[in-house]
Amino acid sequence: CLQAMLRRWQEGGRHARTASAPARGYTAAELARAIAEGQLLNHYQPKVDLRSGAFAGVEALVRWQHPEDGLVFPDAFIPGMEASGLIDELTRGVLLRAAADLRALRAEGLRIRLAINVSMDSLDRLGFPELVCAMLDETGLAPAELILEVTESRLGSNPLTALDILARLRLRQIGVSIDDFGTGHSSLRQLRDLPFDELKIDRGFVTGARKLPTRRAIFCGCLDMARELNIRSVAEGVEDRDDWDFVRSSGCDQAQGYFISRPIPAAELPAWHARWQQRCGELIG
Ligand code: C2E
Ligand code: MG
Ligand code: MG
Ligand code: MG
Repeated sequence: CLQAMLRRWQEGGRHARTASAPARGYTAAELARAIAEGQLLNHYQPKVDLRSGAFAGVEALVRWQHPEDGLVFPDAFIPGMEASGLIDELTRGVLLRAAADLRALRAEGLRIRLAINVSMDSLDRLGFPELVCAMLDETGLAPAELILEVTESRLGSNPLTALDILARLRLRQIGVSIDDFGTGHSSLRQLRDLPFDELKIDRGFVTGARKLPTRRAIFCGCLDMARELNIRSVAEGVEDRDDWDFVRSSGCDQAQGYFISRPIPAAELPAWHARWQQRCGELIG
C-alpha cells in the first residue's frame, strides 16, 4: 500500500514539474567566466513559520546576470556547471555572498537561518562535509545556521555514500533538507535511515491543493510521513490565500512561495519583513 502511494507521488511529481528549457546551452568557458567575472548573484526567498507567522529563514537562489541574455535562472546553467566541474566553485560563491548578506541583515536586527541548494554531484564525493566546513570557516557562519537542500529526485544513486556524508554533516550540526519531496524515488527505508531534519514538499502537491483532491491527499501523506519521522515539514509553492489557508490548517510547520514573497535581493528583505509583519495580523489571526 505504501509502495503504491509512493508510486503515485512519483507520478504526480513528474506531471507537476514543468520542464523549463534553457534559452540556449552555455559552454564551459562561458560558465567559468560567469564565476570568474562575478556575474552570479543571490536572491533570497523567505520561509515563514505557519503557526506564528515568524520569519524563519531564507533560501538562497542563484541567478546569472548575463551581459547579453539578462537575468538567467538556475535551471538554465546549473546542469552545465555540474557537467563542467564548476559546481563546488558556484556553491562556494553562493555561500560567501549569503554570509556577507546575513551579516548585513544581522546589523539591522534580523537573525535568520540560511538554506542553500546543493547538487547531488557534490554529495557523491566523500570529502564534501570537509569542503562545507572549510567554506563555513571562510564565512564566519555557524554550522547550525546552515541548511543544505538536496533534491529528492536525485537522491539514491549511491545510498551508502549519501548516508555517510549526511551523517557527517549532521554530526557537525549542519541541517539537511530533502527538496522537492515527492518527485523522487527514495524508499521509505532510505528515508528512515538517512539523517534528514527537514522535508520540503514539492510545489506540485501544494499549489492548488485545497481544491484538488489528489494533490491534497499526497500532500497530507507527505506531512504524515514527516511527523512520523519527527522532522520539520515545509510547503513550497504557496501561491495564494487558498494555498496559505490550506497548508496552515494541515499542520505543516513552515511555508515558502510567491504568496509570502518571491525570491528578492538581500537589500529588500528588511522592507519585506516589515510588510510581512503587517500582513501577519490578518493571516494568522
Ligand atoms: P528549488 O530549490 O526547489 O527552488 C524553488 C524554485 O521554485 C525557485 O526557482 C523559486 O523561485 C521557485 N518558486 C518559489 N516559490 C514559488 C511559487 O510559489 N510558485 C512557483 N511556481 N515557483 C516558486 P529558481 O530560483 O528558478 O530555482 C530553480 C532550481 O534551481 C531550485 O529549485 C534549485 O534546485 C536550483 N538552484 C537554485 N540555486 C541553486 C544553487 O545555488 N545551487 C544549486 N546546486 N542549485 C540551485
Ligand atoms: Mg531548494
Ligand atoms: Mg524545492
Ligand atoms: Mg520544487
